[in-house]
Amino acid sequence: MNKIIKNFSGVQVLKQVDLTLVGGEIHALLGANGAGKSTLIKILSGAYSLDDGEIILDGHEVSISSPQEAKELGIHTVYQEVDTALIPTLSVAENIFIDDYANLKSSFFVAWKDLYSRAEELLNRVGASISVKANISELSLSDKQLVLVARALAQEAKFVILDEPTAPLSVTESENLYRIMRQLKDSGVGVVFISHRLAEVFELSDRITVLRDGQNVSSESKSETSMNHVIEAMLGQALVEEFP
Ligand code: ADP
Ligand code: MG
Ligand code: MG
Repeated sequence: MNKIIKNFSGVQVLKQVDLTLVGGEIHALLGANGAGKSTLIKILSGAYSLDDGEIILDGHEVSISSPQEAKELGIHTVYQEVDTALIPTLSVAENIFIDDYANLKSSFFVAWKDLYSRAEELLNRVGASISVKANISELSLSDKQLVLVARALAQEAKFVILDEPTAPLSVTESENLYRIMRQLKDSGVGVVFISHRLAEVFELSDRITVLRDGQNVSSESKSETSMNHVIEAMLGQALVEEFP
């Protein structure tokens, strides 16, 4: 993403932000509340339009004007508000294959057994021990997230974007998600995650981008940066030096 500009009622909330995502990398997006992180990924996910700038995918400029279009390009996003992406009256398996669901339902013969076993396989991969026939409303927040990651896998996502995924999770649930993020990376998927937890950011990511006040103030590979540098970029000021 190059020089992305986004205004909300006359206020520029993204001021020429750059973000470069690479398959097989875990990329952390940091910044204080209101810095513009969610807005940036919503543009990438087709939820918001951009006012200026360009999105380049595999060397070509693309326009992403709807969530559907983003998904067709292989960009899948798991928002903090997981419920908005799930249909509570459908089962877990149906939710996983929701993007094909209309086609499936209108086709004369649906091989449900086949679908269930594919869903089971995906749930295993994401470490969710839930029934494919379970109701969405019975699931924990963590399991709902995992259903959405399974959906991204079902669609052979090229990029998976997670907005503060571990904020509501327990330690065990977070560790399961870290494992899946690494697994996605190892399979060549580009993973983007927003987080306020510096420990997990430094544990997981290959690249760290910091936004401050709608601007991209730092983007470095983890090996070339430090926690102090990242904190200073977020704050916009030097940390007080330690006494000798
Ligand atoms: P972050 O995710 O880094 O906390 P956001 O991207 O949510 O920040 O918000 C960046 C700025 O844009 C904030 O000032 C926020 O109030 C504003 N903003 C975000 N979404 C909207 C919207 N739909 N309408 C108006 N203002 C918005
Ligand atoms: Mg916020
Ligand atoms: Mg946000």
